[in-house]
Amino acid sequence: MQITALSGGVGGARFVRGLVQALAASPGASRGDGEPTQLTVVGNTGDDITLFGLRVCPDLDSVLYTLGGGVDEDQGWGRAGDTHALLAELAKLGVGPEWFGLGDRDLATHVARSLWLGQGLSLSQVTERLARRWGLPELGVRLLPVTDTPIETHVVVPDEEGGERAIHFQEWWVRHGARLPASAFTVAGLAQATPAPGVLEAIRSADLVVLPPSNPVVSIGIILGVPGVRDALRGTRAPVVGVSPLIGGRPVRGHADACLAPLGVEVSAAGVAGLYADFLDGWLVDHADAGAPYPSRLPVQATDLLMRDVPGATRLAGELLDLAGGLSPGRGRRAVDAGPAAP
Ligand code: GDP
Ligand code: CA
Repeated sequence: MQITALSGGVGGARFVRGLVQALAASPGASRGDGEPTQLTVVGNTGDDITLFGLRVCPDLDSVLYTLGGGVDEDQGWGRAGDTHALLAELAKLGVGPEWFGLGDRDLATHVARSLWLGQGLSLSQVTERLARRWGLPELGVRLLPVTDTPIETHVVVPDEEGGERAIHFQEWWVRHGARLPASAFTVAGLAQATPAPGVLEAIRSADLVVLPPSNPVVSIGIILGVPGVRDALRGTRAPVVGVSPLIGGRPVRGHADACLAPLGVEVSAAGVAGLYADFLDGWLVDHADAGAPYPSRLPVQATDLLMRDVPGATRLAGELLDLAGGLSPGRGRRAVDAGPAAP
């Protein structure tokens, strides 16, 4: 059994941790062959930013730290018990920015990554080294950046002269708390980006593709924008099953609502499903959203969608596996995409 998940940061990482636990509790369950399931996580790199000369990949690191047991559980990102001596010293030297929190332990990751990138390793190769540090192979998990090509999500916001300017996604999200009205998201480098080695193969040859409850615009949306990824999802034989990141029309955390608005997409579980309608075969929503109209003939299952803790995420992942197990490959996708069958 091969499962491929497309992941952003906190929401994706927490769900994937639950998925690892659910699979460990019932090894080979979906196939009954007793072989341990291999899980490939394709991570968003649009959030990546260069700070203090260091390459920071927040979403990949959230996955690494969460699966490896080193994450700050309250934040959902960064290292547990971290200190902030280095950034404080830099601030005294007048070196910023100060609005992006990087703890001292966390910084070791960025120093190592930047060193290895400077030595000519690809981001995939660097991520593989970091994944070994965090014990991902022992969990049966492979973490792939969606692309080795540097890409950066930018947000178009108003400027002081009544025009517009583009700022880095992190400046909009972290510094401004997503309060500046966004008119568009652009991704520098995306058109020239190629999927990292193994990404398309992991989607095409999977037995199941999972969309965790990640931000549909700036996490999943960026992954889908890397040339070839969306076509691989449309073409895979595997069922593609997702979890809504919105409950009752609101993000559980973060600013997904502020990301959907510029796209003109309804801030709802149904609105997000519509973004995936060309490849989605099954959709888990919260009880609160059970009654909404979803894309025609899309199998929708309602449950408690809140991941309060690891057992809660494990339960949710188990329900996703159950939903997927009841689908025939491509069923919903054909129904949504092609309309009535030819006579
Ligand atoms: P980020 O990169 O750290 O912003 O993380 P992701 O893109 O992976 O996930 C962010 C999304 O996860 C947000 O839109 C949240 O609403 C969603 N999310 C966080 N916790 C939960 C949860 O417990 N249940 C569900 N359904 N969604 C969640
Ligand atoms: Ca992110």
